Amino acid sequence: MDKTTLDKINKFTRRDFSQEELYTFSVILCDNDIDRDGERFSDEALESLKTLFIGKTGIFDHNASSSNQNARIFDTEIISDDSRTTKHGTTYKYLKGTAYMIRTDENKNLISEIDGGIKKEVSISCCADEKLCSVCGNTISSCIHEKGKYYNGKLCHTILNKISDAYEWSFVAVPSQVNAGVTKHFSDADEKIYHSSQESDNEKQLRRDIRRLAYFSGGRTAAAAAELSAKNLNAVQLAELKKSYERLCSHNGIRVQLMTEKSETDNNSYTLR
Ligand SMILES: [Zn+2]
Repeated sequence: MDKTTLDKINKFTRRDFSQEELYTFSVILCDNDIDRDGERFSDEALESLKTLFIGKTGIFDHNASSSNQNARIFDTEIISDDSRTTKHGTTYKYLKGTAYMIRTDENKNLISEIDGGIKKEVSISCCADEKLCSVCGNTISSCIHEKGKYYNGKLCHTILNKISDAYEWSFVAVPSQVNAGVTKHFSDADEKIYHSSQESDNEKQLRRDIRRLAYFSGGRTAAAAAELSAKNLNAVQLAELKKSYERLCSHNGIRVQLMTEKSETDNNSYTLR
C-alpha cells in the first residue's frame, strides 16, 4: 500500500492507521450496460456515482447489525474496458470502488471470504431523478416507446440520469436469494445479476421517513395510508414517494427534520427544507 492510499484512508478514520492494520479490496459498484430491468446508467450518472460513493459504508449480506464488519469506500474510478461492448453497442464502462476495513479478530473470517472470492456480488441503491427513453430521449413517463422492444434495430431501454443520492452498497454472499427487483445489483465478476430478498436498511429507513412525513402532512390516517402504499415499493420508488411527501410538506410550510437512528455520519441524516 503506498503513502497516497494510506493518506486517503486515514482521512476517514479517527486516528491514523498503519498499513498492517488495514485490509483493502476493490468492487465493481455499477456499470453502463443494460441490466435485467432494461435500465442502464448514463455516463453522467456514473460520474455522479463516482463522487457520491466516496466515504459510503458497505454492509455485508444486508446485515448492518454486524457493525464491526463494515467497509468504507475511500476511492472510486471509472474504468473503460475496450475489449467489451455493452448491449447498446458502446464501450463497457464500470465504476470501481476501493474499500478498506480495519482488521479485527471479528472480521478475520470475512476477510478470508473476500480474499477467497466467496463474497462477490455487490448491490447498490441510489436515486435517479431522471429516467430517459433511449429511443427518443424524453422522460419515460412522456413517451410512447416500450422498454424491451426494438426500434430501427435498437433495443429500447431506460437511461438512468441525474443521480441525486447514493445510499449504500452491500456485499451479498454467493449464491444469493432471488426475488423481485428491489435495488440494483451488479456482480463484480460476471454478468449475472442477483437480487437479495432481504429488505435493506435503506428501505426500512425510507419507509420510516415516509410514514413520518405523511404523519406531518395529514395526521395518523395519512401515515397509515402512506405505509400501505409504500408496502410493495422498491428502494427507488420509495425514494420517489418520500420526495413527493417532502414536497407536500414544504408546500404546506411544514419543516420536518428526519434523523436516522445512527448519527455517526452526515450521510445518514436528512433535512427537509
Ligand atoms: Zn421514447
